[in-house]
Parts: sequence; structure tokens; C-alpha cells
Amino acid sequence: MIRWLWAGGALLSFVVLGARSRPPAPLRVAIAPAEGAAPLAGALRLAACPPGTAPDNDACVHLTRGADDGPAAPALSNTHREKSGRLTQYEQIPRLPDRPSDYDAYRYPIPPGLPGGHYVVSGYDLDRPDPQQRRGRTLSHVGHGGVDLPQAKGTPVKNLALDHQEGDAEVLYTGPLFGTTVVTRNTLREGGRLRDYVVLFGHLDSIAAGLSPGASLKEGDLVGAVGDTGSPSLVHLHLEVRRVREGVDLAKVPAGAPLLADNVSVVCDPRNVLPLK
Ligand SMILES: [Zn+2]
Repeated sequence: MIRWLWAGGALLSFVVLGARSRPPAPLRVAIAPAEGAAPLAGALRLAACPPGTAPDNDACVHLTRGADDGPAAPALSNTHREKSGRLTQYEQIPRLPDRPSDYDAYRYPIPPGLPGGHYVVSGYDLDRPDPQQRRGRTLSHVGHGGVDLPQAKGTPVKNLALDHQEGDAEVLYTGPLFGTTVVTRNTLREGGRLRDYVVLFGHLDSIAAGLSPGASLKEGDLVGAVGDTGSPSLVHLHLEVRRVREGVDLAKVPAGAPLLADNVSVVCDPRNVLPLK
């Protein structure tokens, strides 16, 4: 597993909307880009992150796996105590018990970029206890809903069919979101019915030529190239999977940030849907 550092100043790619105006009962956290659609807005400067870490959409993340990154998964804990003391509970779809916890058991859109053939430098932490989650500058920004996959700038990012996916992925959005971003819709057959997911490829250096909303992506098709847009100095792919809520018609959802809105999709542990090696 991946060890997290939460520097006091780190803020994340997610925001708690209305947290201060709602009652103290369990709160739902809307997940959206830290600063709307502005790709670099609010990004931490490198100097703001402690040694051994680098900024990633305003969070400080470890650059290497820690020696004590043991395999034991902590108890599920999708809660977070804000600086004010208020306990916030947020939605997520946790890893299913039958899915391996080891990130290296899965395939990804880019080759492994870490020593030893590992992929994930920092990642999905919504299933981690409160102190191990990424923190925002004001402690109102919690959790990290994707996995971060380091690789050399310019490395091709190739589309990956998810487990139980039916048909091709459809491009929903290309443009600024988590840096330069591509969002696709992937339809999966789960429990005998079809469910839509959205997959977010973030911090791209470039988007594949000709790729635009409505395009279909087959397994292996080029999505773009690894970069550090929105995460200056930390070149990596941010890969995030979100399950579209029941009854939502994606055709009626404006492209871009609204796809990530609380009432449209909910963050999902990517291990539930990534294809196994
Ligand atoms: Zn990330």
C-alpha cells in the first residue's frame, strides 16, 4: 500500500461543498476539481511541498513508495474530521472484498513507472483512516479518488477496457479539468445489468490527435500522453473511476466538471473495475 503524507498546506482535487452551511449530521461531499475548470488554479508551488514530495493538484504526494508500505489494508473509514472538529462522511464505493488489494495485480493505461515494476505512487485513499488521507489547505478538502501513476513525460496513454465492459469507451470530454484531461464513458455489465462509469485521465501533456467528444476508444487506442498539467513538476497520470448514479442520463449532463458532480457520479475504488493482469 502507499504511504501518505499530508502536509498541512496540501489541498486536494476535491472540495467539500457547503460543508459549513449544512447541519452536522453525516454530510455528503461533492467531488469536483479543486478550482473549477481552471487547470492550474491554486496549484501549489514546488517549494510549498516538503522534501521528498511534490505537488499534485494542490496536494503533496510522496515521490516513491515508502519502505513501510505494508500490504495490510486499514479498516474502511470514509470519514474525515475537519479542523473545526466536525466529522464529515463522504460517499465512495469501496474496494469489493473479492478484488485484490495489491495495485500491481491490475493492468493500467501506461507501463509501470516505478522500480520493481510497480505502478501506483500514490492513490486511492478514501478507504484509509482519517489521518492517512490527503488533506486540504484548510482541512476541508479530503480524500483522493484516483490513483497516480508516474511515467516519463510523453509516454503514450492507451485506453484500457474495464472488467466486464461492454462495447467501446465513448469520449465525453477533452480539455482542462485535472490539468489537461480526457473523460470517457464505459458501460459495464454488473450483476446482470448495465452500469455506466466515467473514467478520468488527468494531467495529460497532450490529447491524442483528433480525439473529441463522441469518439469511440477501443482497447489500446491512444488517449494522450503523460504530462504534468495541473501537477507541475510531478509528471504522472491521474486515473480516476466514478460510477454514474442510477437514473442519470449522461447525454443530459454538461461536459466537464458536471460529470464529477455529487448528483451525477460517485467515486469508486478503481480496483473494482480495472482489468486484472
Ligand atoms: Zn491524482
